[in-house]
Amino acid sequence: MSLQVPAVAKGRYSSLCSDDELLDDDDSSVWEEPGLISLQSSIYLPNTGRLASPPKEDGSQASAVIKMGWLDKNPPQGALYYQRRWVKLDIDYLRYFDNDKQVYSKGIISTASITNVTSVGELKFEVITNNRTFIFKAESEAERNEWVTLLQDCTRGRQRRSTMNPGSPLTPDFKGYLELKGLRSKLFTVVATDKVFLYKNMEDYRIGVGITSIEMNVGNVKVTDRRSFDLTTPYRIFSFIAESEQLKDQWVEAMRDSIGEALSNSEVADRIWAEPSNSSCADCGAPKPEWAAINLCVVVCKRCAGEHRGLGPSISKVRSLKMDRKVWTEELIQVFLLLGNVRVNSFWAANVPPSEALSPSSCSDDRRRFITNKYRHGKYRKYHPLYGNQKELNNALCINVQCSDVLETLSLIFCGADVNCSTGMVSCPSPLSLANAHSQPLQAELLRHNQNTELPCSEVDGGMEEVHFSAPTCVYHNGFLFKTGSMARAIIERKAREEFSRRWCILNDGTFSYYESDKNANPNGALKASEIVCLAVDVPEKHGYDHTFEIYSESERLYLFGTDDPNSHKEWVKSIAKSFIPAKAEPLLRLGFERIGRLKCKDGLNLQTSKVGWFALVGSTLHAYLENSQGEEIHLRKLNELSIQQDNEVLVLVERGRTLYIEGERKLDFAGWCAAIQTAAGSGGDTLSQQQLTDTDIPVIVHSCIDYITQCGLTSEGIYRKSGVNSRVAALCERFRQDARSLRLREGEHQVDDVSNTLKRFFRELGEGLFTSEDGGTWLTTAAIQDESMKISQYQVLLNKLPRVNRATLRALINHLYCVQRFAELNQMNLHNLAIVFGPTLFQNDGKDYTAGRAIEDLIQYYTLIFQVDEQQLKKQLEEITAIIQVREKLNTKFPSTEPGGHFICTVYLEEKKDTAEQHVKIPASMTSAELTCEILDRRNIPVKDKEYWNCWEVIDKEEMERPLHYQERVLPILHSFGTDSHLLVKKHIAMEAMIIYLASKVDPSKHGIMKFREERSILGLGLSSGSFHDRYFILNSSSLRMYKEVRSNRPERDWPVRNLRIYLGIKKKLRPPTCWGLTVVYESKKQEKPERQQWYLCCDTQPEMREWYATFLSIQNDGDVWPQDGLQPSRVSRVLPDTRHGNVSLIPLRGSENEMRNSVAAFSQDPLAGRCLASAGGLSTLQ
Ligand SMILES: [Zn+2]
Repeated sequence: MSLQVPAVAKGRYSSLCSDDELLDDDDSSVWEEPGLISLQSSIYLPNTGRLASPPKEDGSQASAVIKMGWLDKNPPQGALYYQRRWVKLDIDYLRYFDNDKQVYSKGIISTASITNVTSVGELKFEVITNNRTFIFKAESEAERNEWVTLLQDCTRGRQRRSTMNPGSPLTPDFKGYLELKGLRSKLFTVVATDKVFLYKNMEDYRIGVGITSIEMNVGNVKVTDRRSFDLTTPYRIFSFIAESEQLKDQWVEAMRDSIGEALSNSEVADRIWAEPSNSSCADCGAPKPEWAAINLCVVVCKRCAGEHRGLGPSISKVRSLKMDRKVWTEELIQVFLLLGNVRVNSFWAANVPPSEALSPSSCSDDRRRFITNKYRHGKYRKYHPLYGNQKELNNALCINVQCSDVLETLSLIFCGADVNCSTGMVSCPSPLSLANAHSQPLQAELLRHNQNTELPCSEVDGGMEEVHFSAPTCVYHNGFLFKTGSMARAIIERKAREEFSRRWCILNDGTFSYYESDKNANPNGALKASEIVCLAVDVPEKHGYDHTFEIYSESERLYLFGTDDPNSHKEWVKSIAKSFIPAKAEPLLRLGFERIGRLKCKDGLNLQTSKVGWFALVGSTLHAYLENSQGEEIHLRKLNELSIQQDNEVLVLVERGRTLYIEGERKLDFAGWCAAIQTAAGSGGDTLSQQQLTDTDIPVIVHSCIDYITQCGLTSEGIYRKSGVNSRVAALCERFRQDARSLRLREGEHQVDDVSNTLKRFFRELGEGLFTSEDGGTWLTTAAIQDESMKISQYQVLLNKLPRVNRATLRALINHLYCVQRFAELNQMNLHNLAIVFGPTLFQNDGKDYTAGRAIEDLIQYYTLIFQVDEQQLKKQLEEITAIIQVREKLNTKFPSTEPGGHFICTVYLEEKKDTAEQHVKIPASMTSAELTCEILDRRNIPVKDKEYWNCWEVIDKEEMERPLHYQERVLPILHSFGTDSHLLVKKHIAMEAMIIYLASKVDPSKHGIMKFREERSILGLGLSSGSFHDRYFILNSSSLRMYKEVRSNRPERDWPVRNLRIYLGIKKKLRPPTCWGLTVVYESKKQEKPERQQWYLCCDTQPEMREWYATFLSIQNDGDVWPQDGLQPSRVSRVLPDTRHGNVSLIPLRGSENEMRNSVAAFSQDPLAGRCLASAGGLSTLQ
């Protein structure tokens, strides 16, 4: 089966690894690799051990073949004739083979890496990837056009698919170089779930152009020697040699896992396909569909699944038959067997006009239209006779779920019956409980998957889809630009002039093409405007050319263009932006943006479905056009929070009043946006207006320091006069400079004098000063005016002349200083003392004379007049401060001084996370989990019965992981560590009794045994986790948790101190734990300078097993004290509340702005339950 080498080959080697592709970048060095010389033929698959004839149609092939046939492929460089190739296209890959009998391809190109497909002359077409162009020649015009259309279609729908298909781009379980016997150069080999891929080298892997893939469901791995092993398939034996014995073991293990994966993967699919109608797609009829919409009960092919995904999970819950094993319960499989695509379509597709029906070769646009009509709008469904009559529908549903007619239930649900309606029965309040009570597990399963389903809604809302796909205004522009090779990674280094080549560029008809010169007819490359997702304008002179810009494509490529002519640069940026920004977001084009493009996002109003938004970044403002909304502006320096979450996949912007989640749909442009937004949100410079600001236009640093001093420093003697520790002040200033918003000043952690000096240093070093360099002098001369009222009005004039931010800041600062001197009795800082300190600081002079001091003295003394302060408000503010001081005094006498004295108001849920189960609770620093639990139960009047183990739980990561707090654990530190998707929940700890009994049966707490282990590993620094679960032997004793490779191993692979581990129940689903009894273990070392955090996962085979491990951890970490001896005793538990007279003063502001804090305090005082609690608690007297 080896390829006969054309007898030319002077300096050309017909390597099968990559028969000479026309290299885009003229990089021919790979062909001179000596290792390849000997491989005159069939190097890619040494011919050892051909075991069987290939099957007619390989059913194991991951996706349905969209098209296959003979094509001539471009000749190796220099050779004259084309090579005849058997070519197959599926949604993920374009493969070409020596002939139609081959199982293993000669070349495999990931469709995700194809940037463009175009027809060229003489029945030819080009498949363009990042740095290679493949030319194919068809036998007829029609044939050629069909290939081009299908290929374009496959590469276009890519960006939506990539979110659902973890295989594209590959998420490797294991990868590296392996020697294939008979081949001297090593191959880059990648094990990814149920396949093994071979690439010529790592670069090829990165760009998605490989040799072949091996389906592991037919594989077997056998060790043959110290470093070598065979991967045997019915068609070939691959004899590999690893670099070391140890690596061989790892390869063998990875490949065996992959086989296991492949076998278990096909189990569900094989069962589902046992129902004949499930073996073709419910929407388009393509064979062997591997996906399903589990709530709609249809089995669909991958391309249709992509469109289902686009509807959002509230309409279609798409799962893979092969990859989402966990979701496929026996009941769900039975539902699919019972219904089957034909019966289900008798409902969903009862009225499909033949003109609208899909076929396996339908294009993406048709698919999208059909699937949206079918499921979102319910356009083709068979209407239930009760349609429109809600009450009757609900009734019918309640009756029907008691029998076995699942199809009728489906029909009722999707014609409007309310899955969560009330049955009117106390014993079975919902249809789900009715189904369970009548032993109808299949009905129950269907109901369960549709509890939050959005019903078909016939009104057509074109919305963003339309905008997204509508062609923007047609733009024409041409000229010379300088271009580097396109890249798959962000540009980190400066690109020198030599790296650019001159190209003639044309933007026309929605396509941006570049040519060798203006004489050439065939472009070197082209990019459709609709594929451009982002355009970034570099700062001048960033690269070898004065002016450069970057274009990001949907297929994760980055193109860098440059010119020395600023006007040409401007024109190009304008034209390109215009070519891909839709009319709706057109105002963005008028901005002097540094970055413009589209991103997927969600906001507070609708967290279910993400929408497309168009964004432009201008300075520190992010301009956005979101679906169905007018343009809006997000002031990045005013954000309450900016963070990147979920493994670098979501950028979270918390504004006043709303939160925007920007999703990393593609890595490359998303990373660029993240970096740009973070930079824009940080302090831009050393003047006031360049700082991160609060929504009242005060720099965050000023606000934080003033706030902290007000809370903790007003009674500190010599405040602002005493100096802090220089190194700590410098460190604080630096932290504020980097990201003021992320720094929270905390008592115990930060010292009062360090903070006060940080504030002083900030003003002293402020560019242009608080009073501006222009008018600073006039403020000083005003201080010399004798007449009081003249002086005051002059100050007012100057005040009004200040820029907005300066004015607001000055006002906030003088207000603060006014308050400080009002408590001079306690802090010894009277008006004069403060003025001595702040005069030279704010006027940035040496303070040799007292002029500056006098000005500050005036501003404080006449504060209410100059700033026209509302006396009532000031009085209230002073009262609040008095209250704070009083409460602090009390707390300080009750607690050791190291104890932070502040409170947090936090939301705690009872039993489940929903609005009605919300309680707002003040969390004093001393409050324990048991106290909080009692507080909540007490408010809701829930008595604690014997053998009921109410517990407070920390729930994190979208409720995928939770941890019962130990009853003596302090709650406040937990709150400090919370991310945005975490909360506290009070509910019963059902396993507690079993755990206590288990522990009681043991002499000493220790345990050993096998668990499945997986580690969080990082790939390419992207923080993606990889790896899979492997059996490991664990020994847990009073000091450490040790992990061994197997029982017999005598040296542990790992050893962790038990006390530093935090153990959560549950494992993130996306890690695909092999059982549902998983634990997530977090290791945090608390070293001040270099805090370290690791995370890994343990899976047990059974629930009792997991409980035993958990109980042992708990017991060891708490010296055997896992539950209070005499149970929860609400009466004995102290509730620490401040003096009731000041009950509503939050001592540490909540995160966010002052106003938000006030609002939540107000909400708190309006909560009648809270009020009752305050009254009954009787202040501090209950404290033990
Ligand atoms: Zn389909």
